[in-house]
Amino acid sequence: METPVLHAAILSSPGMGHQIPVLQLANHLITHHQIPVTVLVVTTHTSPPESHPATASSSNLLRIVQLPPVDVSSLLDPTATVVTRLCVMMRAALPSVRSALLNSSPRPNFLIADLFGSESIKIADELGMPKYVYITSNAWFACLTTYCDVLDKEVVGQYVDQTEVLRIPGCKPVRPEDVVDPMLDRNDQQYREFVRMGIEYSFFRGILLNTWEDLDRRSVDALRSIANVPVYPIGPLTRAAEPEGTNTELMEWLDKQPVESVLYVSFGSGGTLSSEQLTELAWGLEMSQQRFIWVVRAPVGGHADASFFSSGNGASNGGVADFLPDGFTDRTRNLGLIVPMWAPQMKILNHPSVGGFLTHCGWNSTLESLVNGVPMIAWPLYAEQRMNATFLTEELGVAVRPKVLPMKKVVRREEIEEMVRSVMELERGKGMRERVKELKVDAEKALSKAGSSYNSLCEMIKDCQMRLESR
Ligand code: UDP
Repeated sequence: METPVLHAAILSSPGMGHQIPVLQLANHLITHHQIPVTVLVVTTHTSPPESHPATASSSNLLRIVQLPPVDVSSLLDPTATVVTRLCVMMRAALPSVRSALLNSSPRPNFLIADLFGSESIKIADELGMPKYVYITSNAWFACLTTYCDVLDKEVVGQYVDQTEVLRIPGCKPVRPEDVVDPMLDRNDQQYREFVRMGIEYSFFRGILLNTWEDLDRRSVDALRSIANVPVYPIGPLTRAAEPEGTNTELMEWLDKQPVESVLYVSFGSGGTLSSEQLTELAWGLEMSQQRFIWVVRAPVGGHADASFFSSGNGASNGGVADFLPDGFTDRTRNLGLIVPMWAPQMKILNHPSVGGFLTHCGWNSTLESLVNGVPMIAWPLYAEQRMNATFLTEELGVAVRPKVLPMKKVVRREEIEEMVRSVMELERGKGMRERVKELKVDAEKALSKAGSSYNSLCEMIKDCQMRLESR
């Protein structure tokens, strides 16, 4: 029998942090396996199609379909969380997903849904497509997600009020204060959505993860038992550095700085700080007397993920200096650079002058730091970032973090100064720097031909072929 010719459809939820790893997966399927890919991108009114990283296609094997923006305003309470919004949007987009698949020519014959797209499983079944889910994060998070329906039955009261850690078979326990945002309040709609997603993942033929087997083998194995489906760690899939000519001034400044002397400070695509925290961070950076590049956004009260749906869309926020302490930019003129809103992060982390990253621990940022061998200051804000911070500091030993979670208490300037020095001063940061460089090499090995992640993607493809052959 002839081997079936594969054509993938990958469904992406809104948000830069979701679309970037989806596109990287598409690139891998095309470049290393010559599999054509149709990426279906769910768009929103606040992140118009032209703002998506998925606009330009460089290969004729890649087709990007921007689904019409979904209007969910009548379905959502104005106070709905980012996770609830994403889930409701993905549900509302299902009819367009279905018609995009039916109208594609040639038609994709298997589906990979991202972590918020798991309800598309019904469409895959209807159209006879083998289906996989792509959790664009790490194995520990995937374990908590898939095990949450068990915790839901076992644990009484709010998770955050528990005095004991939350135990997950075969895997590190999760501290109550580290649970993901949807688990913070069990009465909120986002919690029910989260439990549902965790259950749905086990109905896919396999789970793809944006990590590599050796980074957290214990959690990968635990996930295999919990979900009881094949698990394919295929990462770290990170994007290439931004093209030449992107923010030339900033890159020229970096070129002039000594090796590993600059701290890069950024809170991802959606992170924002309070006004008070912004002031303390500015003072902490100044007091540390270390060089820095700081991506600054206007402060927002209330939600740390306030710009999740709107950042990266070219919106400018030129007057950020107004939010910083008086005279800060003058006093730090020779020390650092302020970048409003958005910086070419991969290019920065890839630059030899960068020696540390103060990050909100979004999983893409985390991987980007690891693959560039840059130690971190872990400053978690939302989503699964508290778990990521714990993993980076306590398991991998490649980061330091504030004593108290930044969402609970303002981190004061003295503590910030101390953390910055402990990462950036050559002798003090040496151990972390060595460990992160080992992980960089490890990541390269996993991705190389015959490496664990390369093989894992091959296995998934083989499984898909077998499934199609058996039809
Ligand atoms: N990013 C960037 N420039 C910025 C801020 C973010 O290029 O100024 C990119 C970053 O490189 C990463 C993504 O946006 O690929 C953010 O994803 P992550 O998972 O770290 O966090 P999220 O934004 O989803 O919270």
